[in-house]
Amino acid sequence: MKILFLDQSGKPGGAELCLIDIAKPIRDRCLVGLFADGDFRRLLEQEQIPVQVLTQQAIQVRKESGLTQGLASLGQLLPLIRNVVPIARNFDIIYANTQKALVVGAVASFLARRPLVYHLHDILSPEHFSTTNRRIAVTLANRAQLVIANSSASKQAFVAAGGREDIVEIVYNGFELNKYQIPQQESLVIRQELGLTDKFIIGHFSRLSPWKGQHILIAALAKVPEQACLILVGDALFGEQKYVQQLHTQVQELGLETRVKFLGFRHNIPQLMSACDLIAHTSTAAEPFGRVIVEAMLCGKPVVAAKAGGAMELVESGVNGFLTTPGNVEELAEVINLCIHQPEKTAMIAEHARYTASQRFDVAVINQQLARFLDKI
Ligand code: UDP
Repeated sequence: MKILFLDQSGKPGGAELCLIDIAKPIRDRCLVGLFADGDFRRLLEQEQIPVQVLTQQAIQVRKESGLTQGLASLGQLLPLIRNVVPIARNFDIIYANTQKALVVGAVASFLARRPLVYHLHDILSPEHFSTTNRRIAVTLANRAQLVIANSSASKQAFVAAGGREDIVEIVYNGFELNKYQIPQQESLVIRQELGLTDKFIIGHFSRLSPWKGQHILIAALAKVPEQACLILVGDALFGEQKYVQQLHTQVQELGLETRVKFLGFRHNIPQLMSACDLIAHTSTAAEPFGRVIVEAMLCGKPVVAAKAGGAMELVESGVNGFLTTPGNVEELAEVINLCIHQPEKTAMIAEHARYTASQRFDVAVINQQLARFLDKI
């Protein structure tokens, strides 16, 4: 079965990294069509996954856009649709991995007479998307043969927004387990390079964006002992420069300059996670899945996550990690303190998490599950 994947992003966010793991084992019978050029293309090429950038023109659909903007952006997509249709005829399935890819994929599916699959990586709630965008997404997704939801939370929001329940299957992200087994020596070198050898390192791995809640973690850091330091790994992928500035100002105002390091976007996530003592996920809105939570578990590191959306399907508080109320600085500071003062208990929780996560999220098993759903089409 030949698959044409479509993705709007040139940048590697969670949905794109997930797509790499899906496309890799079928690289001899797939093509990834992108609507923008960038680092994501380079990552696909590194994995020898066939990729083609389908347009040179930047496409803009803002999540908060209204009806007119939404329709205007549909107009922008027409040349892209014209490009995709003849390509799609050489494939058996069109697999849309993002919302704009869904728009293009749905029309191309109709014109090229090929079945459509939509991988839903978002929670279609008002917090994340405008009414127009939700309506467009649900209407088009309802025409698909199959919607893959990345969590039960994403599925529920889809159905609540009018999506057809009978076409949705939940498939969690899969991970290459061996990538997360980092020799201790390597982690020690990273700690030295960071100049934080004797510190309690808290890591946050995410694009810098207000709803990812880096500001909550910085506020919590000010409330815990000075030995705790923070590395913020990730960049503003979608132009949230104002937020980045706010974070720097917050760090200065709290006098945390020596305790917070902004590392920018990195490709060596397992290595950096392994150098941490605690990994924090602090999204203030419900997270559709939360790849970083599973990655932390696979590295055998304790993880604290914000109690909402997909994170609640991954973490059982006190058993394989910790959950705190989204946006609650006090609760977060309490968990950090607990992890500093009870390292043995925390290590046991982390070890349990490593074992269960490797059972649940092995990419080989997840890809088989996905293949079974695709085979039914
Ligand atoms: N990530 C990365 N480099 C960075 C920061 C994050 O490769 O500097 C990765 C991270 O390891 C994770 C993904 O980006 O695999 C983010 O996925 P997640 O589901 O946590 O959030 P999303 O970006 O999809 O909202």
